[in-house]
Amino acid sequence: MIYKEHSVSARKCIALVAHDNKKQELVRWGKVHRESLQQHELFGTGTTGTLVEKELGLPITKLISGPLGGDQQIGALISECRLDLLVFFWDPFEPMPHDPDVKALLRIAAVWNIPVACNRSSADYIFSSSLLSSTHLREIPDYDSYVHGRAV
Ligand code: PGA
Repeated sequence: MIYKEHSVSARKCIALVAHDNKKQELVRWGKVHRESLQQHELFGTGTTGTLVEKELGLPITKLISGPLGGDQQIGALISECRLDLLVFFWDPFEPMPHDPDVKALLRIAAVWNIPVACNRSSADYIFSSSLLSSTHLREIPDYDSYVHGRAV
């Protein structure tokens, strides 16, 4: 794969997703980081987005609920470079009917090299990074160069 640099703006587009047993943990984490979160544009799967919007009082673009396709919508936004960061508190103790979608979302986040926080500690680390509030470059796949056979 050939890569190119993509400019990430200081105001990030952040997706918030939590499985049912992790939703309250995400709300608790979100309350701690509310000041930071309100500097950015927030997206969420249906139920997570509704809950976080209500509990934090911040506007969130709500997608379809995860099991109904919301995870795939988040993945599509990542592949269009319309999301910069994924906070995804998935449940390590429960099998999910939409496990293939969860796996697909984590894979597409890896493909597009976006930071992913799968638990509170990693979310805390990401939110203490100076990159969160600054413009920076991120390497992403360069499909145009690939398809036109250009070497980089
Ligand atoms: P939900 O989806 O926010 O609609 O509950 C999350 C998920 O299960 O992926």
